[in-house]
Amino acid sequence: MSLIPDELIEQVRDAADLVGVIGEHVELKRTGADYRGPCPFHGGTHRNFAVIPKKGMYYCFVCHEAGDVFTFFMKKLGLDYPTAVREVARRVGITIPERGPAGPDPREPLFQAVSAAHDWFQRQLRESPEGTIARDYLTSRHIDAETAGVLGLGFGPRGKAFQEAMKQLGVKDELLLDAGLLVKRDDGSIIPRFRERVLFPILDLRGRVVAFGGRVLGDGEPKYLNSPETPIFHKGQMLYNLHAARASMRKAERAVLVEGYFDTIRLSLAGIEEVVAPLGTGLTSDQAELLKRHTEHVILLYDSDEAGLRATFRAADELLHHGLRVSVATLPDGEDPDTLVQQQGGAALERVLRDAIDVFDRKLQILERRGMLGTLPGRRRALDRLLPTIRAARDPITRELYLARAAEAAHVRKDVLEREAGIQGGSGIRDLGLGKTPTNPQSPIPNPPTNAERALLLVLFAGDPWRTRVLESVSPDMIEFPAYREIFEAVRRDDPSGLDRAAAGIYEQLAAEKLGNREPGEMLEDALNKITARGLDRRIEAVDRAMSVAGPDEQRALIVKKQQLTAERNAKVPTYKIAARRKGAPGS
Ligand SMILES: [Zn+2]
Repeated sequence: MSLIPDELIEQVRDAADLVGVIGEHVELKRTGADYRGPCPFHGGTHRNFAVIPKKGMYYCFVCHEAGDVFTFFMKKLGLDYPTAVREVARRVGITIPERGPAGPDPREPLFQAVSAAHDWFQRQLRESPEGTIARDYLTSRHIDAETAGVLGLGFGPRGKAFQEAMKQLGVKDELLLDAGLLVKRDDGSIIPRFRERVLFPILDLRGRVVAFGGRVLGDGEPKYLNSPETPIFHKGQMLYNLHAARASMRKAERAVLVEGYFDTIRLSLAGIEEVVAPLGTGLTSDQAELLKRHTEHVILLYDSDEAGLRATFRAADELLHHGLRVSVATLPDGEDPDTLVQQQGGAALERVLRDAIDVFDRKLQILERRGMLGTLPGRRRALDRLLPTIRAARDPITRELYLARAAEAAHVRKDVLEREAGIQGGSGIRDLGLGKTPTNPQSPIPNPPTNAERALLLVLFAGDPWRTRVLESVSPDMIEFPAYREIFEAVRRDDPSGLDRAAAGIYEQLAAEKLGNREPGEMLEDALNKITARGLDRRIEAVDRAMSVAGPDEQRALIVKKQQLTAERNAKVPTYKIAARRKGAPGS
């Protein structure tokens, strides 16, 4: 639609030196991370005009002018948008192809109407007597007037004031209907869409306001109301705050996905700028694709209640499907980002994000806590929950690991699971020589890469003294999954260069994974116990086989033997009891 491709505009904006450009017109002085000077728009003499390089924007605390480097040129030099982009591009040395034959963007009047409405909504929040309810509400959410100004928040009052103000500005009702800011009732009367709501502006990638999200004040329904789909707003293809967040996403090499406007604002104010939210719906495929353009890793920070978890895993599947790495951060019980920051400061949020774990681990953790991995029907249901995530994972190494871990947790053979997951011909990794693990012909269960082996390696990667302790207490033959054993040996000889491609991929994944709040000593002990228990399990199975062909006297001895082994094994891993009973049952 536009003459200059969005990607190019983004490139120009990223390359532009906002402080340098504005500094040619305003005398700026550094204050902390920002720059301050007298406002060139209202002609102030005090330093009320802020340039915020981190957000790529400027803002005046007196006249509330705000924008990015392009807006600055447009407003200061009276240029139109494409000319402003070309001017900045010229300065940073980026060539923009000449204009084509197409005319101006036919949606321009809509952008202008929404922009005029935004200015007016912001003024209502700052000044109008009816706006008191909104100001009080924001205060209760710990957002002061200055912050609300920087964020561009607004207030939509009841009554005719909005229409009258727009009429005076010459903005036609028709245009406001198209923009979704007015609605026509069945009786033909026209009223504002946003009545007695706090308004969050939704910006496109060019930094233009295209829509609003409205939070009700008081008891009305619905709690959140968004602009409808319009020619300039497609909610499934945009993310709240992406305009401001994407530069930080590239720097932080991650995106944080939250559920709503307030969470986004809270994280952003706490210095975590790489935060975005879907717009009032579940995460769409287009939105996942959009994230993929800016990052490889997404951390989901949703509510931990039942609905929040469902939304978390739905979003995670969508992201996995686009080949992204997905982690889940979990807030302490009963906290939301808001309360956490109020009580423990912004650093507490960063800690929560640092402790994020892979989405599959999170799923297993929840199923385990619900006791679903301990019983046969439970394991069946658990698999039904795990399969969508396995199917969603598009990255072959990730999928291979998920398959192996699900097989282990549910005591199912991996090839059976692979079939059930509908992954034909393996997952690609097989071609790299890793898919088939050597199976012990004596054992009905092949040896998948286990959680325990993986945990061992994670502790190995946790640095000394843990590295030394793992190397001292583990011998390579205890590790059965070939890629894990290779990695273990590579670390032991301090040289990962000999790893093949697939093992190297797993190596990197393990090295990048943080232990979070898991304690390495406990992890190591737990892993060693499980690996010892695995060995004992095999011996118990051997006793079972012997028992089926033994005479009565022999059988009594074998029963004693089995009791000893079982006790020993259960001492290592008590949770194995139920599985053990099933395996040990006659006829199994
Ligand atoms: Zn000003």
